Amino acid sequence: MNPLNPCCDLSSSSAFPLSPRTMILSANQVSGKSFDYIIVGGGTCGLVLATRLSEDPSVSVLVIEAGAANLDDPEILDPTQFSTRFGNPKYDWAFETVPQKSCNDLSVPFNRGKGLGGSSGINFFQYHRPAKSDIDAFEELGNEGWNWALLEDYYVKSERFVEPVKKDPAVLSYTLANHGATGPLTVGLPNVVSRFEGPYRTAIESLGIEFAEKPTNGFWFTPISVDPVERVRSYAANKYYQPNATRENLSVVVSAHVTKIVTALDANGQATAVEVAFLSEDTSYTVKVGKEVVLSAGYILELSGIGNKSILEAAGIETKIHLPGVGENVQEHFYSSVLQGIRPEVMLNLYEALGKDVFGMAATCIAFVPLASVSPMHASLQESLAKAIEKDISTGKISESLRKQYTIQLKHLQDREPSCEFLMWPLFRTDPSAPVPGVQFLSVSAMANHPFSRGSIHITSNDPLLAPRIDPNYFEYEYDLLSIVEQLKFCRKILDQEPLKQFLTGNEFRPGPNVQSDEEIADYVKANMRTTWHTIGSCSMLPRADGGVVDRNLKVYNTTNIRVVDMSILPLHIGAHIQATAYAVGELAADIITGQVF
Ligand SMILES: Cc1cc2nc3c(=O)[nH]c(=O)nc-3n(C[C@H](O)[C@H](O)[C@H](O)COP(=O)(O)OP(=O)(O)OC[C@H]3O[C@@H](n4cnc5c(N)ncnc54)[C@H](O)[C@@H]3O)c2cc1C
Repeated sequence: MNPLNPCCDLSSSSAFPLSPRTMILSANQVSGKSFDYIIVGGGTCGLVLATRLSEDPSVSVLVIEAGAANLDDPEILDPTQFSTRFGNPKYDWAFETVPQKSCNDLSVPFNRGKGLGGSSGINFFQYHRPAKSDIDAFEELGNEGWNWALLEDYYVKSERFVEPVKKDPAVLSYTLANHGATGPLTVGLPNVVSRFEGPYRTAIESLGIEFAEKPTNGFWFTPISVDPVERVRSYAANKYYQPNATRENLSVVVSAHVTKIVTALDANGQATAVEVAFLSEDTSYTVKVGKEVVLSAGYILELSGIGNKSILEAAGIETKIHLPGVGENVQEHFYSSVLQGIRPEVMLNLYEALGKDVFGMAATCIAFVPLASVSPMHASLQESLAKAIEKDISTGKISESLRKQYTIQLKHLQDREPSCEFLMWPLFRTDPSAPVPGVQFLSVSAMANHPFSRGSIHITSNDPLLAPRIDPNYFEYEYDLLSIVEQLKFCRKILDQEPLKQFLTGNEFRPGPNVQSDEEIADYVKANMRTTWHTIGSCSMLPRADGGVVDRNLKVYNTTNIRVVDMSILPLHIGAHIQATAYAVGELAADIITGQVF
């Protein structure tokens, strides 16, 4: 306990600035009390929403977070530490998928941020907006008003883009007009880069991928959520919550695992949340709902009796609202990489070469392109996909709701909207195996951003502490597998272009020289693919008849005062990393709840 700050859980001493006094309360302090808004999950969307709602001093807001506060914790703030917290229960839920039936029964580690800031506290920093067509698709699926014109303002509202001190437009360039300037979340380009970004740009441009002004179609330098001045991670806890932590109407309880929402049913079958129950150090507590409960951890709906009756029954939970869409329509990005060793004479000692600016480094070379730009097979693969979908429609395997999603996705393929991503990691990304000691690697990840496969996330028991069953159902559609095979072939081409090639040993570490045919590459993918940690869809915002869980106001169907505000509400995947969208959705949700939108 920090004697200067008795309310705040500062478990580790820190070279980073200490937060001001916060309203982090104990379970006993909030027990039995009533709050206007109870936000379950103090993650990315949850803290944005809590910060905005508590701007009105006349309302009380309580955030209940299962993890610790972890404020001012160098493990989170130090940008070089990313991914070292994986598996550490202080920061990571460390879930795993069920064996993936179309992926040789591979179980994939499924990390999720735990503690204030949620996944924004453990993510890899890439920060950017998706293509307009991705957001407009939400409206096309029946959510009137949810389009780019609306959401763009909320991306801008959340962002404060800081221009780099050292400008090198040949390597890192940006267009100021595409960024927000006054939002809470500080983002920027890295202060320094490795020596590979410039050659990589030339290499990828020589393959016909042109530089783009926006991350919509072409090669681009993505900003990162690292404060370039403080050289610390910029995330929901330190940029939204901490500056406002002294507000008396913003209470937070941490290490408090919500177990369910207690609801009352009216004569029309509408559920109203009256209490939220949580566990803290094995003791049960409840808090009373003044106005609304907002779930920023959507799976709690099932624990509260809202979901598919058969799944709830199997888990031993009484059904309050039969809502079959809960936990369905899960869509997940995934990736696989090509790795080559860097020649010993050009290996970098990062700390010697870059000094403290190393704390502002991250992967920033990114390209979003259609399959048509990277593979001669694109037309035949997409034709086979369309036929497979047609067949599944005719046999009834695909629901009418899913047909609407696929119609949009197929049109986006036809229109050559980008669904493939290439991300260059200078030095370190080697999933799934540990790097070879003493060797530095350059890797290019092929990422698939508009999957056709659909999975699910469901509880399997009424034990609220038991992990849900996570099934992204990778490669349900063969197109998802075959298109990433094509992407990996393109990764190899990039690494084979000068002036990049001169830095590399020519020895491919992964997939390796023995992996050449499409079948061999597909087998490599099935053994080595990873999630990109961008899960969406399990509480989709769709019309109820289309398997929706929330309406366009993010209100759960057949409830009077329960909303979901997290990434699970996205009904169709976006071709971008999703944290910028999480911040934008949190901002928009605040305006919806306070009646300023819709
Ligand atoms: C490892 C990793 C790397 C990523 N890299 C990037 C990247 O580079 N760029 C990018 O754009 N996106 C990235 N993402 C994705 C992005 O960070 C997340 O999608 C986004 O932050 C999710 O926000 P959210 O509000 O939906 O959920 P979260 O931020 O995960 O918040 C959910 C919160 O709910 C809490 N919670 C869960 N259950 C309970 C319970 N029962 N009771 C109380 N609290 C509970 C959790 O502890 C958590 O704090 C990454 C994600 C991960 C996990």
